[in-house]
Amino acid sequence: MCGIVAYIGHREAYPILIKGLHRLEYRGYDSAGIALIDDNEINVYKTKGKVRDLEHFTESKNINGKIGIAHTRWATHGEPNNANAHPHYSETASLALVHNGIIENYTLLKKALQEHGYNFKSDTDTEVLVQLIEYIKTSNNCSLFEAVQSALKQVIGAYAIAVIDKNNKEEIVAARKSSPLVVGLGKEEYFVASDVTPIIEYTNKVVYLNDEEVVLLRPKEQINIVNLNNTITKVDVKSLNMSISQLEKGGYPHFMLKEINEQPKTIIDCIRGRINVEATNVILSGVIDHKDKILNAGRIIIVACGTSWHAALIGKHLIEEFCKIPVEVEYASEFRYRNPVINKGDLMIAISQSGETADTLAAVQLGKEKGAFIYGICNVVGSSIPRATHTGTYIHVGPEIGVASTKAFTGQVTVLTMLAMTIAKEKKSIAKERFLSILKSLKSLPELMEEVLMLDERIKDLSKIFTYAHNFLYLGRGYNYPLALEGALKLKEISYIHAEGYPAAEMKHGPIALIDNEMPTFVIATTDSIYEKTVSNIQEIKARGGKVIALVTKGDKIVSSMADFSLEIPDVDECLSPVVACIPLQLFAYHIAINKGRNVDQPRNLAKSVTVE
Ligand code: GLU
Repeated sequence: MCGIVAYIGHREAYPILIKGLHRLEYRGYDSAGIALIDDNEINVYKTKGKVRDLEHFTESKNINGKIGIAHTRWATHGEPNNANAHPHYSETASLALVHNGIIENYTLLKKALQEHGYNFKSDTDTEVLVQLIEYIKTSNNCSLFEAVQSALKQVIGAYAIAVIDKNNKEEIVAARKSSPLVVGLGKEEYFVASDVTPIIEYTNKVVYLNDEEVVLLRPKEQINIVNLNNTITKVDVKSLNMSISQLEKGGYPHFMLKEINEQPKTIIDCIRGRINVEATNVILSGVIDHKDKILNAGRIIIVACGTSWHAALIGKHLIEEFCKIPVEVEYASEFRYRNPVINKGDLMIAISQSGETADTLAAVQLGKEKGAFIYGICNVVGSSIPRATHTGTYIHVGPEIGVASTKAFTGQVTVLTMLAMTIAKEKKSIAKERFLSILKSLKSLPELMEEVLMLDERIKDLSKIFTYAHNFLYLGRGYNYPLALEGALKLKEISYIHAEGYPAAEMKHGPIALIDNEMPTFVIATTDSIYEKTVSNIQEIKARGGKVIALVTKGDKIVSSMADFSLEIPDVDECLSPVVACIPLQLFAYHIAINKGRNVDQPRNLAKSVTVE
């Protein structure tokens, strides 16, 4: 959600900034802008729309400068228009600033600044910040760095910012609180960005800023980080292990399709070094290194949002079945604003692909304050949640660029399976035979996923029949109930067709009223322990003239004969069924969205990394 890129050094900044903005497009945004210092003037170019609109706008202009800041905005305060796009100038245009986040006390600050004669050109909360910095800088006659520090002390809210001063083209000041920001270290040059994707092309040395840290970047000097109270922070340089090809489409028309197809490989990466069929073992070091806390947990609370919340529901099923520990699954956004009961000794698991989800991060902080032991399950290495948790496991599925999550979901469920197995083995709460059989199934997942991907052509044909449906119902039971929610979410997100997921048996308590021949139902009806019950639910739909697409286990005759359309997937232990069965749901949503001409990688109104609450 929203992206910041900044550069200072010996190269022309514009191409680096524009390319960086393109790399951040996946995060979701509605306007874009750029500011560079040339001849002791700050030139701002900004427009509503996409980064390519910004490029058209700047095409005929002669843009120079070796220092610049750039932004993709996801509007929170003020509609997405040219005036509200970032960067924002200060009153005298001597400063320009980009900001990700929300300044909660902006009304009060704005009023005070207006009383001092400051004029505002936008409706944003952000403009208040750049004006405040200028006000402090001029009235205290201090440096930009000091003015930023002092302004941020007055701010309530979340921010990642980068600021430049026309009178000093040798420095950028940046800072963060609750919104991500990372600095790339080059040779006599620095890069700043919301995540590492704009940076890895130039350097693999990065420093992740922590909350309330302000950084001063001067190309000929060492990076200098202090907190708001002026305490110097030890610089922790990390080496990245990521390649540019991971950020490109690799021959696929969309990132989403690439990521769906990558899943057999990403699952191998996810389980590599963690399971060993020969040695009959699963080892998650995040669990083993903290056995006392984890095995003795009286209760587990999983906090997450969106697709990660669906993975969490599957995690609850897995942990309760294997480990016999009660599990509660919470929307992070609700959890953080209740006064939840968290006891010392509770284990909290936080799941987030980006590791930056603002609500999940806040829930982690709350859990920590109340004495819970926190386990993170994230994808982006070095992101805020892994740094805030006590331990955890990365899903290691590589960068996920498509806004609709696909490979992160299968990675999350796979990690949750390994987590439940590791705990269960240590607690001896799972039968040896069952443990071994799941272990085998885990190892066979990539092969089974390859097989399911072969359904692509058939799903593409099927999608044509349903392109113009206005509503869709997704049903599943047991392990596949959360998958029904996930299937519905995928369709909603990228095709904008209204879809709802339900536990199949709940249908008769309400949604059955919707069933007619215009309301198709997608039923996940694989051969599991409650197969017969699902069969009855399908009968109920058919009896009311509903159209059914069924996902069945290879060789199934009963459901296939009842459904209007069926898709066969290979047999797999029911606890791992969602990892395999989600692929046809992902492909179905993808093809419908393509048929409708939707922007599948960047669906409207959505953001990838939800860094505001
Ligand atoms: N709150 C700011 C605005 O609405 C920044 C939004 C963002 O993070 O892009 O302009």
